[in-house]
Amino acid sequence: MNLKFFDIVIVGAGPAGGHCARILAKSGRKVLLAEQNDTFDKNDFSSAATPLETLSQFNLPESVVGSCWHKLTIETSKVSQTWESPKNLGVVLNFAKFREFLASEVQGNGSEVWLGCRYTGHSQANGETIVQFKQLSDGQSIKVSTKVLVDATGFARAIMYDKENEKPDFLSGTGIEYLIEVEPEIYNKYANDLIFFLGDKWMPKGYSWIFPMEQNRLKVGAGRIFLDPKTVKSLEPLKKYIDLLIDEYLKSKNYTIIDKHGSTLKYSQGLQDIYYKDNIIAIGDTVSTVNFLGGEGIRHGMDCAQIAGKYIEKYLDGKISDFRDYEIQMHHKFDKKWDISERLAVRKYIDDVNDQLTDRAISYLKYMKTEDVMDILFYYKFEKIHRGFGGYLSRKFKGLINKFQL
Ligand SMILES: Cc1cc2nc3c(=O)[nH]c(=O)nc-3n(C[C@H](O)[C@H](O)[C@H](O)COP(=O)(O)OP(=O)(O)OC[C@H]3O[C@@H](n4cnc5c(N)ncnc54)[C@H](O)[C@@H]3O)c2cc1C
Repeated sequence: MNLKFFDIVIVGAGPAGGHCARILAKSGRKVLLAEQNDTFDKNDFSSAATPLETLSQFNLPESVVGSCWHKLTIETSKVSQTWESPKNLGVVLNFAKFREFLASEVQGNGSEVWLGCRYTGHSQANGETIVQFKQLSDGQSIKVSTKVLVDATGFARAIMYDKENEKPDFLSGTGIEYLIEVEPEIYNKYANDLIFFLGDKWMPKGYSWIFPMEQNRLKVGAGRIFLDPKTVKSLEPLKKYIDLLIDEYLKSKNYTIIDKHGSTLKYSQGLQDIYYKDNIIAIGDTVSTVNFLGGEGIRHGMDCAQIAGKYIEKYLDGKISDFRDYEIQMHHKFDKKWDISERLAVRKYIDDVNDQLTDRAISYLKYMKTEDVMDILFYYKFEKIHRGFGGYLSRKFKGLINKFQL
C-alpha cells in the first residue's frame, strides 16, 4: 500500500502544534497538522490573555486579537488594587481565530491541515513511522508515513505515553469559562481591564477572572487545582463562583451566555515529562510549558515550538541523530522559574495561604510600579516581590523567600 508521506506529522493544532507546523511549513518542509476537533470553534477553551510582546514575538496579526488591555486589577476578599499604563500592556486573543490563523499559514505555505482527525497509534517500519488516525466524520482509519512525529496533544500527551500509569506525577487543575454579552455600560467599565480574583470570597483554592473581549463581550471564568475529595466536598462547584462574579461584581441583570467552555491542565512536578523518544518529540503542554502558578501557557508553548522546530530541521538534515539537545535547552530555559512558580502554586492553592495574608500581600503591592507588577505576573521576576512588600510581608514570607532564593 502506498502511504502519503510527510517530513513531519504534528498531532494537535493548539498554540504549540499550530506554531510548530507554521514554522516548518514556512521553511519548505512537508508538514501534516492533524487535529481531532473538526472546527476551531470547538475546544475554544483558553482565556488567552497574554502580554503585548506575544504579537510581535510570534508575528501575529490584529485579526486574532479579541481586545487590548492597559489596566491590571487584582481583587481579594477585602482589597482591590489596579495598576494602569498609558499604553496597552497586553491582549486577550480570540483563541479560535488565533489557532485558525496558525493553521491557515500552514496551508498557505503548501502543507496540510486535517481537522476532525484523531491520532490512534503509530508503528515503526523501514526507518519511518506509520501514524494512524481515525476520521471522526465516518470512523474511517487513515495511515500516513513520516520522518518525525510531534506530540502536541496538550495535557492528553496522547503519543508519548502508551499507558496512563507510565505518566509522571502531575499537578492538575481545571478551569471553566463563560463568554457572555453584557450591557454596554458594564462592558465599557471593564473593556480595558484584566481582572484577577484571589481569596476565599471569590475563589478558594484557586482564582477567578474577568477578561474583556470584543464589543460588549467578557470572558468570566474560575479555575482551581484538583484536590482530595474531602476538601472538594467543602467547596462550591466552579459555576457558583462564575455566577458570583456576574451577579455581585459585574452586577449584570441582562447578560446572555454566548459559550461555555473549559479544560484541564496537567503539569509535571519537577518537569519530569518525556521530551523525545527516537524520532518522536513532545512540545507545549505535553512537556508542561504552562506556568502552573498563573495558568499561562500560550506563548510558552509557542516558544517551545520554536525551539523544537530548530532541532527538527537539524534532525531532518542529518545534523543530529536524536533530540537530546532539545531537552537540555528546554530544561535550561524553564527549570528555575517553573520550579519557583510550582512551589508558590502549591503554597497558594494546596497548603492554603491564609486569606488575610492574601489581602495584605496585595495591599502592599500597591506601592509597586505597573511595570514591576507585570514583571512579577508575566515574567516571573519574583525577586521584585521584596521591593513591593516594603519589608513587612517579606518578613512574613521570609521562610518561603529564603527557601526559593528569590
Ligand atoms: C481554562 C483555561 C484558561 C487558560 N487561560 C490562559 C490564558 O489566559 N493565557 C495563556 O497564555 N494560557 C492560558 N491557558 C493555558 C493555555 O491555553 C495552554 O497552556 C495552551 O493552550 C497549551 O497549548 P498546547 O498547544 O500545548 O496544547 P492545547 O492548546 O491543549 O492543544 C492540544 C490540541 O491537541 C488536540 N488533541 C489532543 N489529543 C488528540 C488526538 N488524539 N488526536 C488529535 N488531536 C488531539 C486537542 O484537541 C487540542 O486542540 C488556559 C488554560 C485553561 C484550561
